[in-house]
Amino acid sequence: MALMNKQVVLVRRPNGIPKRTDFNIIETVVPSLKEGEVLLKTKYFSLDPYMRPRMNSTKGSYIECFKLGVPLDGAAVCVVEESRHQKLKVGDIVLSEAGWQTYAVSSDRVSEGMSLNLGSLTKLSDEVKISYYLGVLGMPGLTAHYGLLDIGRPQAGETVVVAAATGPVGSMVGQLAKLKGCRVVGIAGGTEKCDYAMREFGFDACVDYKRKSFAKDLKKACPNKIDIYFENVGGSVFKTVLRFLNNFARVPVCGLITYYNDGSTLQEPGFNLASGYAKLQALWRMFFHFDQTPMVMSSILGKRLKFQGFIISDHFDQYASFLKESIPLIQSGKIKVKEDIVKGIENSPDAFIRLLQGKNFGKLLVEI
Ligand code: NDP
Repeated sequence: MALMNKQVVLVRRPNGIPKRTDFNIIETVVPSLKEGEVLLKTKYFSLDPYMRPRMNSTKGSYIECFKLGVPLDGAAVCVVEESRHQKLKVGDIVLSEAGWQTYAVSSDRVSEGMSLNLGSLTKLSDEVKISYYLGVLGMPGLTAHYGLLDIGRPQAGETVVVAAATGPVGSMVGQLAKLKGCRVVGIAGGTEKCDYAMREFGFDACVDYKRKSFAKDLKKACPNKIDIYFENVGGSVFKTVLRFLNNFARVPVCGLITYYNDGSTLQEPGFNLASGYAKLQALWRMFFHFDQTPMVMSSILGKRLKFQGFIISDHFDQYASFLKESIPLIQSGKIKVKEDIVKGIENSPDAFIRLLQGKNFGKLLVEI
């Protein structure tokens, strides 16, 4: 009997938050292997926020759109099921770009060392849990490491604030900053996530941005104000944080998940305004001009802030050295990991929809 591959395809481009009907699960026959090819069976695949902008019809600033009717691509950890590839044997575990499917035929080259580059497979050892290579030891972990250490450049005693604090990027940023001797304050949605960030990841404080008292709570959690704000979300969280940045603060701009679904900032909780005349002016701008630029630009100038956006694929060459440093930190328990594992490819569209509503709790993965 033919071996069947289940694949998730996008059937229409989502309008706002994706709906289950935007996706379809199809079955195709797995083709037989040609020389140089390998059959991969997926063990885990990754669901990441960056995939949402790729579902739009217009190319984002740096990444190609997904095509309709074609299996969605993305990082996956797979086991070699059959091999006609010189460098791979049955049972090898590899990091690949196989994406949202149960099998993949690949003729990609095998990288010499550890690599995250598209078009190459990386052999993984089982010295740590293999799913970690999609989270804290994969692209999200490298993102946290590069953004915090190379752009943020934390110094002992400084205050570091990070939003989406319990995800793979945010939790890694916070824990690395703690290891550097910083005061670490997370921002997360809900009491459960905030408590977890403090109890398990060792954050000094974690503030719930969904509470009306968010600005007051953040101020209290940062008595010396903020030296580094690792930006993962944008929107009203950003506007509140901006008020508490110190002169010469650094802001690695990593992600803006608030805007991924619809670009609107007005539907968010916790929108704060100054008082009196400034409030009137701000309301005027919000409703008639939607222009926050003067407020943001004058803060950047007046406080001499340093903002730097970055795309981690520009820095994949740092992956091997990142792993060398990070694997021992995970093995020794100095860096802790939270995963949110969903079983079965059928559940992947709903899981992705949950991610864009902040309902994941930890690195979101699909286990096959
Ligand atoms: P997470 O696992 O942290 O998941 C996203 C989290 O964002 C949610 O759990 C939720 O946390 C929060 N969130 C979701 N929707 C909203 C919203 N509308 N407003 C505010 N917060 C929201 O994701 P990752 O750790 O994988 O990624 C974090 C960020 O890093 C993303 O913005 C991502 O795009 C970016 N990124 C950028 C890279 C780069 O190269 N620049 C590479 C990798 C990631 P909560 O409930 O706590 O609000």
